[in-house]
Amino acid sequence: MNIHEYQGKEVLRQYGVAVPRGKVAFTVDEAVKAAEELGTAVSVVKAQIHAGGRGKAGGVKVAKSLDEVRQYASEILGKVLVTHQTGPEGKEVKRLLIEEGCDIKKEYYVGLVVDRGTGRVVLMASEEGGTEIEEVAAHSPEKIIKEVVDPAIGLQTFQARRIAYAINIPNELVNKAAKFMLSLYQAFVDKDCSIAEINPLVVTGGGDVMALDAKLNFDSNALFRHKDIVELRDLDEEDEKEIQASKYDLSYIALDGNIGCMVNGAGLAMATMDIIKYFGG
Ligand code: ADP
Ligand code: MG
Repeated sequence: MNIHEYQGKEVLRQYGVAVPRGKVAFTVDEAVKAAEELGTAVSVVKAQIHAGGRGKAGGVKVAKSLDEVRQYASEILGKVLVTHQTGPEGKEVKRLLIEEGCDIKKEYYVGLVVDRGTGRVVLMASEEGGTEIEEVAAHSPEKIIKEVVDPAIGLQTFQARRIAYAINIPNELVNKAAKFMLSLYQAFVDKDCSIAEINPLVVTGGGDVMALDAKLNFDSNALFRHKDIVELRDLDEEDEKEIQASKYDLSYIALDGNIGCMVNGAGLAMATMDIIKYFGG
């Protein structure tokens, strides 16, 4: 299950992960009010959809006055954002995050995933933050540093520090960055995440280490023990047919095309799809 960036940041905040102050807004007026309450000279208007790549698609705007907040909020709300993660049909923006503007010195990437190869949680990081990590992985894989976590003892401080040094976090901020990663790991494990991706993690002019973006995915098999997370589900972001199917405990995946498959088991499903594709379906 996916949640929005503003919800992810709220979860992370509970674990002591540093995130900027911000508020969700469903209307233009709420957006302006939120910016007023934040009271910062610069605020950022951010489209909340379950997909990344919003910045490039015009879904993240830096506003230097309340008038600009109003202007950007009205431009972005209701707009269909097409990013490299939404597919060509895009996603309509129904919520905004109004956030304090951050004095970014440098952007990094930090992510936790369940690695099926090792069967363990892996902490990945790169000094090439902000950009798509898929690009870094494809063109300069040596710039992605990894630490495999032993589940019996969890992420160790020395591992977090090793990563912080490897991605060239300034020396005086290595301890802050390590604490950031340890807190992120705690949230990941406690909440049964399958992905926790912070892109970018930033070092600020004021010497803070912060999550400017947050993507949390949760293992749906563990949702029964996380009522608080289930409440964050946004059905607007999910496929209507999949919602219907889930009411009957059916694992339905909506795809395009005009041939449906009803299959028992993932392997058989994949083989059936391959055959259909092979014969031109
Ligand atoms: P996405 O990954 O969907 O494009 P991000 O939240 O990563 O969205 O935002 C894109 C870029 O916008 C970031 O890399 C950062 O440079 C900038 N940005 C995001 N939030 C803020 C903020 N609060 N203050 C200043 N810049 C920001
Ligand atoms: Mg991002």
